[in-house]
Amino acid sequence: MSLLQATTSLIVGGGPVGLTTALLLARQGFSAVVLEKYPKRLSQPKAHVFNPRTMEIFRQLGVDTTRLRAEVHSERTQIHFCTSISGTQFGTIEAELGSEHCPESFLNISQPKVENYLMEMASKTELITLLKGHEWLSCSEDEDGAIVSSVRIRESGEERTITSKYLVGCDGSHSKAREVLDIPFEPLDNQPEIPIHCVSAHFLADLTHLPEGILWFILNPGSGFSTFIAYDKAKEWVYAITYDPEVNPTDSWAEEVVRKRLEEAMGQKIDYELQSILPWTTYPKIAKTYRSNKVKNAFLAGDAAHAFPPTGGLGVNTGIADAQNLAWKIKAVEEGWASHSFLDTVTAERKPIADANSRQSKLNEEMMVATVGKIFRNLGESGSSEQLIQDPQKKKLVEEAIADNSAHFSSLNLQIGYAYGTPPLSRAPHDYRRENVPGVRLPHAWIEANGVRQTTLDLVDGSGFVLLTSDGFSGESAVNGSGKNGPVPICTYELGKDFVTDDKAWGELMGLHEKGAGVVVRPDQHIIGSVKSFQEARDLLEHYLER
Ligand SMILES: Cc1cc2nc3c(=O)[nH]c(=O)nc-3n(C[C@H](O)[C@H](O)[C@H](O)COP(=O)(O)OP(=O)(O)OC[C@H]3O[C@@H](n4cnc5c(N)ncnc54)[C@H](O)[C@@H]3O)c2cc1C
Repeated sequence: MSLLQATTSLIVGGGPVGLTTALLLARQGFSAVVLEKYPKRLSQPKAHVFNPRTMEIFRQLGVDTTRLRAEVHSERTQIHFCTSISGTQFGTIEAELGSEHCPESFLNISQPKVENYLMEMASKTELITLLKGHEWLSCSEDEDGAIVSSVRIRESGEERTITSKYLVGCDGSHSKAREVLDIPFEPLDNQPEIPIHCVSAHFLADLTHLPEGILWFILNPGSGFSTFIAYDKAKEWVYAITYDPEVNPTDSWAEEVVRKRLEEAMGQKIDYELQSILPWTTYPKIAKTYRSNKVKNAFLAGDAAHAFPPTGGLGVNTGIADAQNLAWKIKAVEEGWASHSFLDTVTAERKPIADANSRQSKLNEEMMVATVGKIFRNLGESGSSEQLIQDPQKKKLVEEAIADNSAHFSSLNLQIGYAYGTPPLSRAPHDYRRENVPGVRLPHAWIEANGVRQTTLDLVDGSGFVLLTSDGFSGESAVNGSGKNGPVPICTYELGKDFVTDDKAWGELMGLHEKGAGVVVRPDQHIIGSVKSFQEARDLLEHYLER
């Protein structure tokens, strides 16, 4: 087999996580080859919720989040529970759009729109080579520790090799990389798998006459439970039917059956163009390790490392943060700031987050099942949906059952409040509070730096460590601390000199209201700890990177 290419990192899978990983690595100055099995991705739009932390990571990556936001018509938050999209409304929940604690709110946008943006960015990045229609088959380590992958060019059937220093399997929940690397995919608490079965119909329709909304949960006494996802109310929709394969085997979902359910759930005659029908299954599972024991510089990220039920919109969001966690650590090793064992922290830090997100997605799913059960029970007792909503007692019961799902749609603490190195969450999923403790994301405050209004998170651009100080620790070199294995870049920003803020509470929280104080932040915007001098910052970093 002849050599196709040599690169620093080989990324298997050109989905959102693979593209983000390649872009983050290229931003750190490393070449990346992205292999994508198919010439064209995604027959259906899949994800729609890109949460505030993902938007912050995109912002750090240089994504023009304003341009991305301009691709959607409005920032909507409503989730409806009804008999059909034009039928009786049982209640509405408002999803949390964002808060004063985030510079970016969540974005309801179709996954392909985000992928197109990332793809365009990657194709303009010199250090990235995108190889579509290339299937990764296997890999081994040669005697020098290089990873030699075999790759099939699908059009010709020809097999070639690619050598790389690192390999990142971002090839989705059926990951070939995970299989070849012998990494077990384990169900939560080793419980038997209870998969969710869904059939999704992607269709185009102008439903702008409907009230604002992202999701419509349909509870039809005749046909059961289903969901509409509005990617773009004026154009793009998915209708998803959750089914029991014992009752409706997967092959029973012929086009006319799906169309009948869809039209019933619309509740009135609406013109639509069906694009595709896709049955899919999911179950909560997490890879035993994100770093291979077999090929030491091979990793998993995204759905290859964890699969969640879609209840909570956490799949791609968790994957994007995996990519961010891995990319700067590869740089730390390549630049000699840390030894190879530092890369073990990827599993230690990211797996507990996948576990927490997986558990919450499962709880959301269980709560939704309970709510649906309660509404159907009350519907049965009332005789009709109209009678139900006219009965104040039953109406209240149903509204309370709907409100029980608030954690599903308001989970800011889960999204931005997790910590590395401790149990990831110390409070309920919705209960985010700004904190200055090791492992958490640097709290956001609006600041002004170089005459530009920005967020404290913008001070940490990903290229190195950042020391936020109250007085610049003058007299010390603020450019290079000396790490054991090489120079460690530390960029120092002094409050009051390099940046200012009206948010006094933020300064106090960070301890920067007093002289001689500093906070060291990692390239991925997570706090390492507080210090009282530049020497302390240097010692802290040395100790931190020695793992
Ligand atoms: C209906 C639905 C709604 C969802 N909504 C949300 C949401 O709102 N928010 C959210 O966060 N998540 C959501 N998700 C989950 C989200 O879509 C996934 O988490 C996301 O696609 C994972 O991205 P990825 O890049 O890890 O993997 P994938 O998107 O699966 O991409 C993997 C890529 O790898 C390629 N590949 C596979 N094998 C090989 C190989 N051997 N060689 C080369 N390439 C290979 C595949 O072709 C594919 O393109 C939803 C999912 C569904 C189904």
